Amino acid sequence: MKECSCIFCKIANGEIPSTTLYEDKDFRVILDLGPAARGHALLIPKEHYADLFDLDESLAARAIVTAKRVALKIKNALGATGFNLVQNNGEDAGQTVFHFHMHLIPRYPDDHAGIAWNPGKADQEDMEEIKRLVDEQ
Ligand code: 5GP
Ligand code: ZN
Repeated sequence: MKECSCIFCKIANGEIPSTTLYEDKDFRVILDLGPAARGHALLIPKEHYADLFDLDESLAARAIVTAKRVALKIKNALGATGFNLVQNNGEDAGQTVFHFHMHLIPRYPDDHAGIAWNPGKADQEDMEEIKRLVDEQ
């Protein structure tokens, strides 16, 4: 395991205690200390990856499978009526801890979790330009 001083490295590897809902050789799932809703959890890989773009691909595949399984347990345990998976990359996208993680957020009627954005209006010409630019990558 690579040496790392970041807080999620320490939490994921058990150097800092956390309320752990699930753990295996690759991941730890903990309760968030600033929950958007009751049962808000974070899936954190034990190895340090800054964000989605840095993440190893086979670990990415295991992350979504693990998130799905733990999300179902949280949903059933707490009687959630909805569920958000949220994953922020970069400061402009709201990332505050620069160690890849996924938010597992159970939702309830009128929970005021406020996970939303203001919808804009798509422009057909711009959509075509976006498609062209992405196709070039
Ligand atoms: P981000 O904004 O980077 O997507 O999410 C970081 C999340 O980590 C936030 O929801 C925040 O509440 C949570 N968090 C930050 N530090 C700690 C900590 O030390 N322990 C736990 N359990 N959660 C933390
Ligand atoms: Zn880290």
